[in-house]
Amino acid sequence: MMFHRLITCFFLLLSPLPLLAASLQVQPWPAGAKAAHTIAHDDVCGGNTGGIFQHALPVLQARGLHASLGVIAGLCNEQQWQQLKQALQAGHELFNHTTSHVGMLEPGSLAPIAGWDNLKEIAQAQRLVQAKLGYSMQFVAFPSDLATPEAKAFAAAQPEILGLRAAKHLYDGSNAGLNVVDEIDPLFVKWDMYWRDGKWSRYKPANGNMLIQHAQAALESGSWSYRTMHGVADGSFESVPLAQYTEYADFLAAKVKAGELWVAPPTTVLRYAISRQQCALQLQGKQIKVDASGPDCQRYHTALTVDLTPDADWQGQFSQQGQKLASQKLASGQYRILLDPTKGNVRIQ
Ligand SMILES: [Zn+2]
Repeated sequence: MMFHRLITCFFLLLSPLPLLAASLQVQPWPAGAKAAHTIAHDDVCGGNTGGIFQHALPVLQARGLHASLGVIAGLCNEQQWQQLKQALQAGHELFNHTTSHVGMLEPGSLAPIAGWDNLKEIAQAQRLVQAKLGYSMQFVAFPSDLATPEAKAFAAAQPEILGLRAAKHLYDGSNAGLNVVDEIDPLFVKWDMYWRDGKWSRYKPANGNMLIQHAQAALESGSWSYRTMHGVADGSFESVPLAQYTEYADFLAAKVKAGELWVAPPTTVLRYAISRQQCALQLQGKQIKVDASGPDCQRYHTALTVDLTPDADWQGQFSQQGQKLASQKLASGQYRILLDPTKGNVRIQ
């Protein structure tokens, strides 16, 4: 027995390369990034958030970063519709922050406040942005992140809505936090809200730039952190000072450049995370069998970053529906491909 084990060890030591079986791994985030991060600004068109257009978007655009803008659709004037149109053209995303920003709930209770109306606040905002910009918002954040179960169910049932920012009937801290990669719930996307003094945030100014701390927390845990802010260098609620915002954007841009962080709007992140959860990929000999039959695989579908440990006889050619797929050979000897699960099985040669 002992002798046999020694022989085995000896053999392993002599082997030039470990003989690994071919395998497939869908990367947690696109292009092998370690973590994901979302930049979100609430109260566009209301609440003195002019600094979003004046300061924030130019800072982001100079660094190739994209934000997600929460529109109070019933408050936008013509100039703001024009600014939103330009923001869309620059690659930013818009989300539904209701028609009038009326408070969803009496604080701390499940009682809707007078004036809340699902059709007016959610459905009408969708239609207004569609009519003005030809754009379908796909994500909803309720004012103060407070909502009844009925209001959340109503928003989630809108055909174009892919996700909701985590809302509850009261603030108990459980809707804030990080979105763990294998546990992402599209109807409860956790976030952290910026407060200059850190009051209701998980982060405190004594530990440095709070915006950076939230992005860093995602990098350390491989998760997705969603940053909620209002305006920048303006008269908005808990406005972010420009220097702090610029430092944050510099940090994000450096991490993106290093290939460590993926910065994207929430529906882009959700498309990837839910496709990864719901579209089944299986390596069978020289084929990747794709099962995209699940409704959420179809609904959220996007291309997934797939790394493959090859068999000795692979030549590194991949095709789907007769079309060659681009592939990259990694330093590890693995192949990396970008695979849209709704386009069928992949042949390997
Ligand atoms: Zn708001």
